[in-house]
Amino acid sequence: MMRTLVKETVKKVGEEVTLFGWVDTIRDHGKISFMDLRDASGMVQCVGDNFPKLTIESVVKIEGEVKKRPEKLVNKDIETGEIEIKVKNVEILSLSKEQLPFPIDIDGHDIDEKIRNKYRYLDLRRPRMTKNMRIRSKTTSFMRDWLLKKDFVEIETPILTKTTPEGARDFLVPSRLQIGKFYALPQSPQQYKQLLMVAGFEKYFQFARCFRDEDPRADRAYGEFTQLDIEMSFVEQEDILKLTEELFTELVKEVFPDKKTSETPWPRISHKEALKKYGSDKPDLRKDKKDKNELAFAWIVDFPLFVEQTKEDFFHGSGSSKFAPSHHMFTSPNPDDVKLLDSDPSKVRGLQHDLVLNGFEIGGGSIRIHQPEIQEKIFKLIGFSEKQREEFKHMLTAFKYGVPPHGGIAPGLDRFLMVILGEPSLREVIAFPKNKEGRDVMLDAPSSVSDKQLKEVHIKLDVGVEKKNKK
Ligand code: ASP
Repeated sequence: MMRTLVKETVKKVGEEVTLFGWVDTIRDHGKISFMDLRDASGMVQCVGDNFPKLTIESVVKIEGEVKKRPEKLVNKDIETGEIEIKVKNVEILSLSKEQLPFPIDIDGHDIDEKIRNKYRYLDLRRPRMTKNMRIRSKTTSFMRDWLLKKDFVEIETPILTKTTPEGARDFLVPSRLQIGKFYALPQSPQQYKQLLMVAGFEKYFQFARCFRDEDPRADRAYGEFTQLDIEMSFVEQEDILKLTEELFTELVKEVFPDKKTSETPWPRISHKEALKKYGSDKPDLRKDKKDKNELAFAWIVDFPLFVEQTKEDFFHGSGSSKFAPSHHMFTSPNPDDVKLLDSDPSKVRGLQHDLVLNGFEIGGGSIRIHQPEIQEKIFKLIGFSEKQREEFKHMLTAFKYGVPPHGGIAPGLDRFLMVILGEPSLREVIAFPKNKEGRDVMLDAPSSVSDKQLKEVHIKLDVGVEKKNKK
């Protein structure tokens, strides 16, 4: 059997074809019936006089002949609008329930997200969602090709790992083999990517899944998100900003040709100026905020290296010290300010750079510390105990075997797509997102596990917790 894709039918006028797909719509005109057949490649009108009883969204096999439509019946809205299929045979491969849980031919923004997520496989059939997923794929493949052409190496780093503090709460995974010990899911591959620079790769990237147990917000997905993680050796901040700007400029041109960037080169604003002038460290610099196609990228630089430590700083001594890293603890101080680390740390500027788009922070990065003595100084200033310091010994050790000066950035893929597609939430650009309570309502996760499983990982649940879960 030869399958013809829907989009190929236009080139096959007069030929017999076999099509597979979903019934998008049915119009019954008594003797003659019309069906729009949809597959991943497009939509085509099928006409017949002997359709079996069908429901929309059923999966069918259609055999028929491709016919040119008379001039006045051409449908300019669809790619196959010049032809239609004269159906000889319809075979139902899988009948869909008559009633769908919700309509999928509208944008769906107003439908309860809980139901949309419960039937996500249906929700993803919605043209808006299908388009978002395809644009996401185009975006990542453009980025990948672009970086590979510039001699970057794509390297995967572990998911079962040890905490890399980015200032959020860790997800922990109990170890079966090492009693009483836990892996942490990476908040980012920060340490690995720096160690890859010590390993001599010079240019690394990865579409990295990052796990942070933070409360969800519209511009933050619960639990996990994806970033384009980049690290480079022998670079200055300028090189990282330039590379990122080039990548995004070419990406927009190629994948989002309708969008217009309002100012190039992207403005660079110091953190201090941003707060003074715009009252925000992620200002929305669009000239016309109603213009859907305007993109206002900006760099925010010259951040203070430290912010005040709060209880939310889960790792950095939890409120016991005055300072917490503004970015993360591997960010290099501005070389002009290194002396101030001893006299007035609050005045030290870091070599951090944030990427802002239309009022959203869509990425951040920095030049890193590569001198063990400065790294030790930062550990002290953020109040690390001897034990915490020990946890990062491998970084200090690595830095003793020839470490190149290095730095990087990590633009958030979900955030970028949400902003550029004008979606109200990250969940609209993620195939299977958690909901606002951190649940996957389709698979019903998180879920209880058996006592045997718990025993294997040496865990006993607090009775109180069990009761709470049963409620
Ligand atoms: N690891 C940082 C983050 O996840 C990015 C970076 O410094 O490159 O935000």
